Amino acid sequence: MRIISSKKMVHSETHREVVERNRRWSDYLRKRQIVSEALEKNTEQIRLSKRTTSNLFRYKNRQHQATRAIPLKDFDHVIALDQGRQTLNVEGLATYESIANYCLARGFLPTVTPELKHITIGGAICGIGIESTCHRYGFVHDGLIEADLLLPSGEVVTCRADNEYADLFYALANSYGTLGYILRTVIQLCPVKPYVHVRNIRYSNINSYVDAMEDATVEGTDDYIEGLFFSDRELYLTVSSQVDDPPYVDDIYGKNTYYKTLRTREEMYLKTKDYIFRYDPDWFWNIPDTALFNLFRQLAPKSLRNSGAYNRYVQFKQKLMKLLRVRPDNTEEQLIQDWEVPWDRGKEFVRFLLGAVDIQGQPWVALPIRTLKSPTLYPLKAGALYLNIGCYCFAKRPDADEDYHYTKLLDKKCFELGGLKMLYSSTFLDEADFDRIYNGQSYRALKQKYDPDDNAPTLFEKTVKAR
Ligand SMILES: Cc1cc2nc3c(=O)[nH]c(=O)nc-3n(C[C@H](O)[C@H](O)[C@H](O)COP(=O)(O)OP(=O)(O)OC[C@H]3O[C@@H](n4cnc5c(N)ncnc54)[C@H](O)[C@@H]3O)c2cc1C
Repeated sequence: MRIISSKKMVHSETHREVVERNRRWSDYLRKRQIVSEALEKNTEQIRLSKRTTSNLFRYKNRQHQATRAIPLKDFDHVIALDQGRQTLNVEGLATYESIANYCLARGFLPTVTPELKHITIGGAICGIGIESTCHRYGFVHDGLIEADLLLPSGEVVTCRADNEYADLFYALANSYGTLGYILRTVIQLCPVKPYVHVRNIRYSNINSYVDAMEDATVEGTDDYIEGLFFSDRELYLTVSSQVDDPPYVDDIYGKNTYYKTLRTREEMYLKTKDYIFRYDPDWFWNIPDTALFNLFRQLAPKSLRNSGAYNRYVQFKQKLMKLLRVRPDNTEEQLIQDWEVPWDRGKEFVRFLLGAVDIQGQPWVALPIRTLKSPTLYPLKAGALYLNIGCYCFAKRPDADEDYHYTKLLDKKCFELGGLKMLYSSTFLDEADFDRIYNGQSYRALKQKYDPDDNAPTLFEKTVKAR
């Protein structure tokens, strides 16, 4: 992994900071002991209980099969930042917002910091986490150095790439808590500057767009690379760099909406924290573009302009509609998914999805990702370049009688092209195909070794059956 060297002097800790670090470490050990003892002799299926809203997304509400909730909400603190090693020791349920606040104050960020503030570090490792630094640093899990895992039996093990739990270490990505819960991690950081210079270039055909993204990736001089595209004639490539002294600073709250601004501006300067969480205030583009919500955009305090608050509002609205027996709009279907296809099949995938799906004027997201490792349960090729495509909105429902037609169509195309899809959203594979694609044979061996009593659901049960 290429870590940019910091020009800053390594700060030596004050006595107070050492005391604080030791206190956080003792607190962590105490909490770990309590949760581990509480799980001893457990025979029930376990599930995670946490403070923040989940970003695990299912088209239909699902019932928890697991009966025993494991309260891990207090494992949400940073323990220590090591400036010399450029690493962060942090509890597994810490949100990226709290991690970013702590690290930015010291001139650092995790190598890959997902765009939604309430995603947690453990969730992003065991789900799959991405961002516009993936061309340089791979996925979130590529920055993992060490993890304390609470096994479903209550035992806590420390896994690293070079110790007796290396098999578990490499299987954490895409395990979704089915092999245990991360209580603490050590992750790689990189030094950052306080502002980001965003440059935005419009393309009007798919070939030159994907080629330009590849050129930027190969050149490697931009800190952040991503794209949004609305049609095969309106495609934006955004390449951004960290800066110390911007000529002005843009605001993405109030009247401004980041993704809309991209359609009209060729450049912007943002605070680094605003850049990282640029899609959070509108939960990508899910806050409706209506007079009422535009008023909300302008008047709501920042504490309510975030994906967590919006997520809670959507859940409340769904419950209310159910209670009032309001029938959902049948002309649309949700399409919230991420796919990775090998780079040389990227243009074909983009052409296919633009031809097949109408997402009603909303954008698709494109990201170049160069994986560093090949994790056991997310077996992309190490070192290869992939094109990630994300879609986070509603699609116009086709005449087809089947539910979630587009998810099935695009998943099938992605697998045909040799790609993988993330499993945070609904998936419709049968078990044999699932096993073939996500390395079921190795998974079963690991599950038998680390959860022989089946105290946690299997990956298939959790990500496909509970759709
Ligand atoms: C609309 C939408 C947009 C998204 N956008 C992005 C994005 O921009 N960037 C990005 O990187 N990802 C994105 N994701 C994916 C997201 O990172 C994953 O869904 C991730 O797993 C969510 O983590 P969470 O902390 O919210 O955990 P949860 O949603 O609460 O949990 C997700 C899964 O991980 C397990 N889990 C949670 N914490 C732990 C832990 N400590 N140890 C072990 N297992 C755990 C849970 O049991 C569950 O199976 C998006 C998802 C959605 C639905």
